[in-house]
Amino acid sequence: MRKPLGQGQQAPDALQQSEERFRLLVAHALDAVITIDLQGLITSWNPQAERLFGWAQQEVLGRLLSETIVPPAYREAHERGLAHFRATGEGAVLNRRIELTALHRNGTEFPVELAITPMQWGKTTVFSAFLRDISDRKRTEQILRESEASFRLLFANNPLPMWVYDVATMDFLEVNAVAVAHYGYSREEFLRMRISDIRPPEDVLKLKEVVTGLAMGMNHAGIWRHRLKDGRIRDVDIMSHSIEFAGRRAALAVAMDVTELRQTQASLARSTERLQILHEIDRAMIAAEAPVTIAEAVLPRLRDLLGVPRAIVNLFDLATGEVEWLAAAGRRRIRVGPGVRFPLALMGDVEALRRGELQVIDVASLPRGPDAAALLASGVLTYMVVPMIAGGELIGAVSFGGASSEFPPEQVSIAREAATQLAIALEQARLRERVQRHTDELEQRVQERTLELSAANEKLQREVAERLRAEAEAARANHAKSDFLSRMSHELRTPLNAILGFAQLLEFDAQRPEDRESVDQIVKGGRHLLSLINEILDIARIEAGRLPLSPEPVRVGDSIQRVLDLARPLAVARSIELESTGEALHSQHVWADHQRLQQVLLNLVSNAIKYNREGGRLTVACHPVAEGRLRISVTDTGPGISPALRERLFQPFDRLGAEQQGVEGTGLGLALSKRLVEAMSGVIGLDSAPGKGSTFWVEFLQAESPVDRLARTEPSPATLASPAERDGTVLYIEDNLSNLRLVERTIALRPGVKLIPAMLGRLGLALAHQHRPDLVLLDLHLPDISGDHVLRELQEDPELRRTPVVILSADATPGQVQRLLAAGARAYLTKPLDVRQFLTLLDETLSASEAPDD
Ligand code: ADP
Repeated sequence: MRKPLGQGQQAPDALQQSEERFRLLVAHALDAVITIDLQGLITSWNPQAERLFGWAQQEVLGRLLSETIVPPAYREAHERGLAHFRATGEGAVLNRRIELTALHRNGTEFPVELAITPMQWGKTTVFSAFLRDISDRKRTEQILRESEASFRLLFANNPLPMWVYDVATMDFLEVNAVAVAHYGYSREEFLRMRISDIRPPEDVLKLKEVVTGLAMGMNHAGIWRHRLKDGRIRDVDIMSHSIEFAGRRAALAVAMDVTELRQTQASLARSTERLQILHEIDRAMIAAEAPVTIAEAVLPRLRDLLGVPRAIVNLFDLATGEVEWLAAAGRRRIRVGPGVRFPLALMGDVEALRRGELQVIDVASLPRGPDAAALLASGVLTYMVVPMIAGGELIGAVSFGGASSEFPPEQVSIAREAATQLAIALEQARLRERVQRHTDELEQRVQERTLELSAANEKLQREVAERLRAEAEAARANHAKSDFLSRMSHELRTPLNAILGFAQLLEFDAQRPEDRESVDQIVKGGRHLLSLINEILDIARIEAGRLPLSPEPVRVGDSIQRVLDLARPLAVARSIELESTGEALHSQHVWADHQRLQQVLLNLVSNAIKYNREGGRLTVACHPVAEGRLRISVTDTGPGISPALRERLFQPFDRLGAEQQGVEGTGLGLALSKRLVEAMSGVIGLDSAPGKGSTFWVEFLQAESPVDRLARTEPSPATLASPAERDGTVLYIEDNLSNLRLVERTIALRPGVKLIPAMLGRLGLALAHQHRPDLVLLDLHLPDISGDHVLRELQEDPELRRTPVVILSADATPGQVQRLLAAGARAYLTKPLDVRQFLTLLDETLSASEAPDD
């Protein structure tokens, strides 16, 4: 521009043309273009200037430039420069690009770049100024400056070692202070080195590959080993960025020393693994796994953790001096399961192991053999044996080893921990297995036993059924037998009565002694047969449970007296002295059937006479026994009975050889007596010393006498007095003296009433005819005929038919009561007698009989 303006002397139209061109140029220029004169007044102002400073052209033309766009602070300098130019024609700021601060109309200041050029415009000099706003550029420059500064700051003060190196040559280009401090080289030493110089040689090849990548603009991150100046090798986490540095392809590397971190991580991983292994053992223990399974689960991990090629879990068999592999883990294989056994000697000092001490075994020191060879083959030159102790017992060992005989403390402590835990788990598992085996065995036994039992049970059931059937059969047979016997005895008794009757008649007619003798034999034989039949019948009835018994209080003295009376003639015949002792007890009562008690005593007494010596003695005694029982004993002075024979004593038909001595008998007396006594809840027994006689005894429960009972239960006879006195006669047919006495006493309360006693049925009937009683009291068990029989005869007798009959019986079975009432009895009173009830009945009956009904 200077050139066309500089050539001022041109033709006027050419000038005009050039001015026009300049005007257009200025008008469309990208920069603000302003011209001023020498006084500093604005002479032109293009549209860019309008935009840049906020002033319109017409507003600024003729204004001082300094007052329009120069900030007040620089105005004086501007004016001074202008004055200097006017004076000298020179200006420091002319014809070059300078940067200044300009003022906008709105008062804001902003940086501009301008070039001021003096121009000769005709005769005058003008200055043209080209201005452009450089705010943006300034800002960018500022930012750049700042970022560079912060980068420098970052690099220099970064707490991590950093460096820049040339990716082509691997030369260090820059290092920061931390790198210098950390690696031990000075900055100058670094800058003389290449990055490969701080690596172990073996890593350099790999380094080159990475650097090639960085040369192609790729970034890199990775862990490397760096060598410090002092030779230590460190693990370093490197991040490299491809950058331009001083016009070279370079890489910026940030290095973080992670040696400690990695060590910590590794030890953390190891301790995690250790815990995992212990946990694994626990888990297996809780899951109740088999010893092999537990060992198998743990061993490979344990071996890896210990960092040895080989680890084995061994179980000791101390009894055989052998070791059994439970599980073993080698570098490439794991062998599981029992089977392999080797000598305990391979485990070192067993006593020391027992004490919990570790053993280190050098394979070379072992005796040569397949075991040592196998160990060497699997790379084990030395191994450590860690004892497994559970509950104070050495149960096995964990052994591990390899080439090195160094067993670092951490390794040992891990092995110890695992061995302790394994010992517990294995012991538990073994216990569980034992318990399981036991349980299985037990179950098996229970099953077998159950089978046996059910078989036995079935057998028993079959036997019970069989027994029941047999019993039923026996009962049926028994029944048939007693039926047969009773029928037979009845059938035999009828002709026997005829035989005996007619024989007695013949006795009167027989004149000749031999005839008398014959008849005597017939009578004797007949009587024998009769007693035989009666006794057989009784036994049969008892065995069939069909012997009617009527237990009631029986006065002991009455029974003894009666029996002695009956036996006296027989005793006299044999000159035997009869004696009775303990008479103080004769007033006592026992609970028995009165007739049957007499039958038993009579049997004992007659035996004592029969088997006594001529002129001997017989004593009937009475004495109390414990628990409210009375004993009646019959003692003789006969030959006695040897203990050997006693068992046979109560067997029917067994006469113990008496039949050869000509003593009469059936061999049934004692057998029947025993059955009778027992049927009355009594006991029969014998005390005998051979040669000194025998004592047979019977024992019964004591009973209260009916009279005592009356006195006890009916305190005042006055209360039993009759409202109206009645007269009358009562016939009482009863053979039990106690009962007779009771009724006697009771009737004594009615002075107008007379009692006639009868101890036999037939006698009773005869007395009834004779006295025509107002009331007959009838017992059912009578020595001659039964009470039933007496009632029937009374009923059938037209004269006695209307006489009221009251049954007094110990037998209170409802069937019996019904039967007798149906047979015509007026009432049925049971023993023990209710005196009040009896008196009421007596009063009613007597007053009814007094009534004028006949
Ligand atoms: P019987 O007297 O009819 O033979 P028992 O049953 O009464 O039958 O007695 C069985 C046997 O016991 C008798 O045969 C006799 O040998 C023996 N015996 C019974 N009582 C006595 C006794 N007081 N002294 C010796 N022997 C006796």
